Amino acid sequence: MSTRHVLGLSGGRDSAALAVYMRQTYPDLPIEYFFTDTGKELPEVYEFLGRLEGFLGRPIAYLNPDRDFDFWLKEYGNFLPSPRTRWCTRQLKLRPFEKWVKSDLESGTEIISYVAIRADEPARTGMQSTHPNLKIKFPLQEHGLDKAAVVELLESSGLGLPTYYDWRSRSGCTFCFYQQKIEWVRLKRTHPEAFEEAKVYEKTALEHGSPFTWSDRESLSELEQPERVKQIEEDYERRLARAKARRPKNPLRANLTDVEVDEAYGTAEVSASCIVCHK
Ligand code: SF4
Repeated sequence: MSTRHVLGLSGGRDSAALAVYMRQTYPDLPIEYFFTDTGKELPEVYEFLGRLEGFLGRPIAYLNPDRDFDFWLKEYGNFLPSPRTRWCTRQLKLRPFEKWVKSDLESGTEIISYVAIRADEPARTGMQSTHPNLKIKFPLQEHGLDKAAVVELLESSGLGLPTYYDWRSRSGCTFCFYQQKIEWVRLKRTHPEAFEEAKVYEKTALEHGSPFTWSDRESLSELEQPERVKQIEEDYERRLARAKARRPKNPLRANLTDVEVDEAYGTAEVSASCIVCHK
């Protein structure tokens, strides 16, 4: 039986650190790196992947879905995806991967997929293999690498964090519904054209009776009003101050001084993200 080793990159911190770890620890393992491109990613993601590719010294395969977001949006009656109906992940992230490995799996090749679940995260359901020849491995978890270790791996490799971490806590689509309110405000400021595009999608969805807006309980047109923006920013500052005060001081974890956006909102990182898109 022949074997392929594959490692999916999301453009986020954990999968990049896993790639660095595997490159450094198992330099001879012929790992194929891949990125499933929804076509709606931040420009910073492509920039980061370009730098990562240079570090790894191997090409990253870009897997494009055969049909784009607009196609699937129509298929789903113009209803926006949401945490409960995450058709976007299925159609734009998982299907391209399945298509990429399908013929090899069916012809008996063993595929080992390395997934970036950290040691400080609970095991995730939904990560089971969907084919007897597909094996899933969690090297960060197996080797006790937590969030601090991941940051350390990226810093010491010279890659650092993707630049969007300055204003947003996750990779994935510009309009991802997992974003917190403050991240929508920052998206409008940082990439106004992406915010406008999300507004157009939302307007069409609402006209077609979609029960979901991108952000909980308000449309982007409401969220972008100056008074509302001020409220969101003040609320975030209060949350941030509370989260910082709550955090126990740990000199051994000095490189983890920043409170992440989800932490400030009191949302567990695990429930506020998607393993495929945001790792
Ligand atoms: S990043 Fe968000 S919107 Fe994009 S596919 Fe993933 S869950 Fe869906």
